[in-house]
Amino acid sequence: MEKKASLYDFLPQEYPIPGKTVYRQKQIAEWLYQKRVTTFEAMSNLPHELRTELAHTFTLLPLELVTRQGAHDTTQKFLWQLTDGQLIESVLIPASPALYGEASDRKTLCLSTQVGCAYGCRFCASGLEGWKRNLTPGEIVAQILATEKISKQKVNNLVFMGMGEPLANYDNLMKAIEIINAPWGLNLGARHITISTSGLAPQIKKLADSPKQIRLAISLHGATDEVRTQIMPVNKKYPLSQLLEACLYYQKKKRKRITLEFILIQDINDSLDQAQHLAHLCQQLHAKVNLIPYNRVEGLPWERPSENRIKQFAKTVCAHGATATVRREKGHDIDAACGQLRLKTERKLATSSPTA
Ligand code: SAH
Ligand code: SF4
Repeated sequence: MEKKASLYDFLPQEYPIPGKTVYRQKQIAEWLYQKRVTTFEAMSNLPHELRTELAHTFTLLPLELVTRQGAHDTTQKFLWQLTDGQLIESVLIPASPALYGEASDRKTLCLSTQVGCAYGCRFCASGLEGWKRNLTPGEIVAQILATEKISKQKVNNLVFMGMGEPLANYDNLMKAIEIINAPWGLNLGARHITISTSGLAPQIKKLADSPKQIRLAISLHGATDEVRTQIMPVNKKYPLSQLLEACLYYQKKKRKRITLEFILIQDINDSLDQAQHLAHLCQQLHAKVNLIPYNRVEGLPWERPSENRIKQFAKTVCAHGATATVRREKGHDIDAACGQLRLKTERKLATSSPTA
């Protein structure tokens, strides 16, 4: 059976539903994003024939909940099944009172942009079984709508740090961001959106040239080419010098600071020599760094360093003139590092399938 497109893949005017007037597009957008109906029948100001036609041609939300972990006021993790059976995940993270104060109503949603990932970073569950496909704009946006519906909470901050490499799905990501920004869509400003990338230098420049004021985070994880290449194969294609140049270009164009992400893995990248190199890179970029204690992935041999080593590493970075914070993964106990819940579920399905 042919896979139907989702109505959430379309943008009034820029990328319209074929054959429909702007007036109709806007009416439909209102049903999708403001009133958030769950059936075509509920779109009561559309002619009956049009509702029938839409129902024949399109789906509404292109995903369904498989499992949800976590409680209302903690990190919650959602595993979704797409219409072709593929699995993706999103993570809802409440504000950290330590960082934003007790009264903060910040609700961050971590979104996936691809099924699997082609970049094969050695620490990451998302890349373990390769890349399957890009998500459509609708599949990206639907993660927000479905999360808000199920959690009954309003998301006001987005990070593209879920499964996949966002900048390798550039066009669909940008269409999704159009829908997220639009007054007729989710009306959430680009300043509340962060894209995390493993360092695709040309796409970083492309993003710098786009008019959107999106925030950028770089998954660095190695402060010299030797260490970074060992952890992230993408470094062979875009070594640190190229990545740095692209980041400087981004900052010059956007006048915005970049954040660096650095997972700490025992005996792999946690030497104090790495800390010094990292501080130097931070200074060159005027960037601050988030240090993330490694979250163990089943099937991978690596470990998180001791508390003592983490502290020493952070202290060394700061002593060399940079700003470092240690990010405590709130969802540590529920496999919140991206890709882990899906991996577990896929493995379970594979072992329980009689033909597998
Ligand atoms: N592909 C993009 C975005 C998704 S991965 C990128 O690489 O930036 C984004 C982040 O997930 C990583 O930078 C890291 O912060 C986190 N992550 C992935 N696996 C992890 C693990 N095992 N432990 C801790 N954090 C992890
Ligand atoms: Fe892909 Fe990012 Fe995971 Fe690397 S860290 S495999 S780029 S999702």
